[in-house]
Amino acid sequence: MKLVENKVVLITGGSRGIGEAIVHKMANSGANVAFTYHSSAEKANAVVEKAASNGVTVKAYQSDASSFAQSEALIKSVLEDFGRIDVLINNAGITRDTLMLRMSEDQWDQVITTNLKSVFNLTKHVLRPMLKQRGGSIINMSSVVGDFGNAGQANYAASKAGIFGFTKSIAKEVGSRGIRCNALAPGFIETDMTEELDEKTKAAFLAGIPLKRLGKAEEVADACLFLASDLSTYVSGQTLSVCGALNC
Ligand code: NAP
Repeated sequence: MKLVENKVVLITGGSRGIGEAIVHKMANSGANVAFTYHSSAEKANAVVEKAASNGVTVKAYQSDASSFAQSEALIKSVLEDFGRIDVLINNAGITRDTLMLRMSEDQWDQVITTNLKSVFNLTKHVLRPMLKQRGGSIINMSSVVGDFGNAGQANYAASKAGIFGFTKSIAKEVGSRGIRCNALAPGFIETDMTEELDEKTKAAFLAGIPLKRLGKAEEVADACLFLASDLSTYVSGQTLSVCGALNC
């Protein structure tokens, strides 16, 4: 028996990085997978092809997670195509790093709407179908930076800290209906997002990681699989850090 066999899993931002690793992990573990991308249509098509080779249904949707209307339309389309949504993984995220003195209103707004409002947008529209099903698992991708902050990332840290409070509140609101809501807090993971950082910043991060290496997207996907599966049926309102002991 595969861990998420026959479950329908929706992942935002599945075309690259951690989201892509989650798509493959879920498909390999028996789930039918819907995922979104923002602009990487070619990459998304390649992910669909590879993930579908596991013999499950996989479909990509172009949808901007920061848009309330597009998120509503997305949930409708996924329900039409797949019939239900058992697991929602709010993974889409961006950085617009700069020191506060230089941060523009636009840099603040872009990060807050893409990283935090998106979690509201998708959760808002998936809750009704999950309530009808009397079950579901919602997993929100936060970051250790939401907990301990980071110079040059006040917008990003605020968006990720907001996810912690949101996650606990949703867990309390809908727990009685069999819906769980948890957050993941990755540390420093090798993806396009961290590739953008300069070597000095990377070296400083690495020095502070007790496991002495960066994490892999697959290692975050493993933690995601635990929270999506029935191995975690009594786990809700929690944050699971995947950070090589960086944040302990
Ligand atoms: P990434 O490699 O930059 O990939 C980001 C993904 O999000 C892409 O699939 C992108 O789609 C999608 N996306 C961006 N804006 C979107 C929007 N408005 N609507 C829908 N999709 C959108 O990032 P990553 O490193 O995998 O990060 C994934 C998540 O983990 C983020 O929430 C990030 O904050 C979090 N995280 C990452 C790290 C790390 O070290 N990498 C650490 C902690 C937390 P396109 O390909 O179409 O652009």
